[in-house]
Amino acid sequence: MMRLPKFDFHEPATLDEALQMMGEFGVRAKLIAGGTDLMVNMKHQLMSPEQVVSISRMDELKGLDTSNGMVRIGACFTVADLAESEEVGKKLGALRTGAKALGSPLIRNLATIGGNIGTARPAADLPPSLMAYGAKVVLKKRSGERAVSLNNFFKGPGLTELQPDEILTEIQIPTPPPHAGAGYINLGIRMAQDCNLVNVASFIAMDGPDGVITSARIVMGCVGPIHLRAPSAEKCLIGEKPSESLFAKAGDAATGDCTPIDDFRGAAAYKKAMTGVLTKRTLGIAHKEAVS
Ligand SMILES: Cc1cc2nc3c(=O)[nH]c(=O)nc-3n(C[C@H](O)[C@H](O)[C@H](O)COP(=O)(O)OP(=O)(O)OC[C@H]3O[C@@H](n4cnc5c(N)ncnc54)[C@H](O)[C@@H]3O)c2cc1C
Repeated sequence: MMRLPKFDFHEPATLDEALQMMGEFGVRAKLIAGGTDLMVNMKHQLMSPEQVVSISRMDELKGLDTSNGMVRIGACFTVADLAESEEVGKKLGALRTGAKALGSPLIRNLATIGGNIGTARPAADLPPSLMAYGAKVVLKKRSGERAVSLNNFFKGPGLTELQPDEILTEIQIPTPPPHAGAGYINLGIRMAQDCNLVNVASFIAMDGPDGVITSARIVMGCVGPIHLRAPSAEKCLIGEKPSESLFAKAGDAATGDCTPIDDFRGAAAYKKAMTGVLTKRTLGIAHKEAVS
């Protein structure tokens, strides 16, 4: 049986205390929230931090606030709570779909939204819809805080904009305007316990129920080193009236925006083709929501 490497475990009572510790420990420390990713990496000796700082019990990181045109979700809000939240379902349906698709009930009960972002896995279930909704993450350290668009947060597999002394404390998502909608679909080999093969989220906003598309964000997972936007697909939607054929055209364009590789999960050509299909379908879901 594989054993965990030795480490010191800390459970600070407040966020201020945790920020203090991360400032002192720097690269020697790792934060732990649900632990569903970190513990697996430590067991496989892929990570062996000297210090592990737990933030899982901090109520100040577990809030959900939907006032003032913004949805603010604490980094330690669990995936199970996201999947069950009616408020999230009403305002951010595609995010809730992603939460429902993540892992098994046992994993969802422990896993957090901040941890899902923190893993920076290009196959993760929550970043596509968060990016499609235009989310920002708040990164705090002892001396201050900054808000970074999730679009600019991921730097490569397992790599992010986060500095060793920073903690991701909150995700901020603008409440979608009227006549807007979003969709998320993930395709896996075996659902629930497996990594995604391709996952796509699409967001569109229209200037009225029968109007044209005024903004579009399409985000593709598993088809590049980070979650990728699909700029040519987005461009072909702007100023156009939604239709099946327009969404098919956007799907085709998205296949040119992604850069998948062949691996044991699937061939690059198959992932590319599925990216097109999921783009078209998620646009259909987004449109249905936008006109309902
Ligand atoms: C059996 C199994 C099935 C899984 N299925 C899926 C799946 O279907 N879809 C999917 O997307 N993922 C899946 N995962 C991966 C994992 O469960 C999720 O990514 C989960 O959301 C991670 O959250 P966590 O709170 O457990 O993160 P942790 O393991 O606690 O942390 C993950 C990483 O993020 C960092 N981190 C955590 N919180 C913060 C923070 N607030 N600020 C800065 N850094 C932070 C940690 O230091 C660590 O590097 C699965 C894992 C397992 C074991």
